[in-house]
Amino acid sequence: MAERFEKQRMKMVDGQLRARGIVDPRVLMAMEKIPRHLFIDEGLADQAYNDNPLPIDSRQTISQPYIVALMSEAMELAGKEKVLEIGSGSGYQTAVLAELAERVFTIERIAALAVRARRVLESLNYYNVAVRVGDGTYGWREESPFSAIMVTAGAPRIPNLLIEQLVVGGRLVIPVGNRSSQVLLKLTRLSQDPKDLKQEDLGGCRFVDLIGEYGWDHS
Ligand code: SAM
Repeated sequence: MAERFEKQRMKMVDGQLRARGIVDPRVLMAMEKIPRHLFIDEGLADQAYNDNPLPIDSRQTISQPYIVALMSEAMELAGKEKVLEIGSGSGYQTAVLAELAERVFTIERIAALAVRARRVLESLNYYNVAVRVGDGTYGWREESPFSAIMVTAGAPRIPNLLIEQLVVGGRLVIPVGNRSSQVLLKLTRLSQDPKDLKQEDLGGCRFVDLIGEYGWDHS
């Protein structure tokens, strides 16, 4: 069983990630290693390495593997960083970040998802992760500044508080747009002035809503 999933994982990394231009060896290694099938319902385990997002509980999703890789690569992590993720969901992306950075702080607004994600992460011995329930659009001020922040839900605009919680030189990777489609942005903070940003467009995407004070209204 484990062997079958391992084969599917290698195939996913070659066929979906390397083939589409993901080159960061640490991202590729992390995704070759992490048992993605353990982060979703058992009934969907056979689809875990397919080239698409999948449903998780509470009408949320685990992102397509390629999007996870693209966003992880854009974080530009070397191993010593402290990073923030907003939208823990299944915890899979959190595990990828836990392989790439020294410490990971992750916020999920739906308690049931946070509890499950924490349990899976602990069962896989990811002890460098802190999971919190709450509105991630405020960031995690007590633990800031971060070298990089990733938002894994679609935002109507760039939340200023997140830029303020980045180190100078830090990266924010975030999908921004309307509720049906977004552009994946990589923003690099260039100076103490939080408005001084370099903006790169990583392509179109479609995420579930970022809901909160600096996101969409609950509906
Ligand atoms: N990264 C996740 C994974 O690997 O499974 C996928 C995340 S899913 C696409 C987006 C998640 O963001 C959902 O679980 C949703 O509940 C969460 N979310 C939405 N708005 C949020 C907010 N303001 N703060 C924290 N989490 C939020």
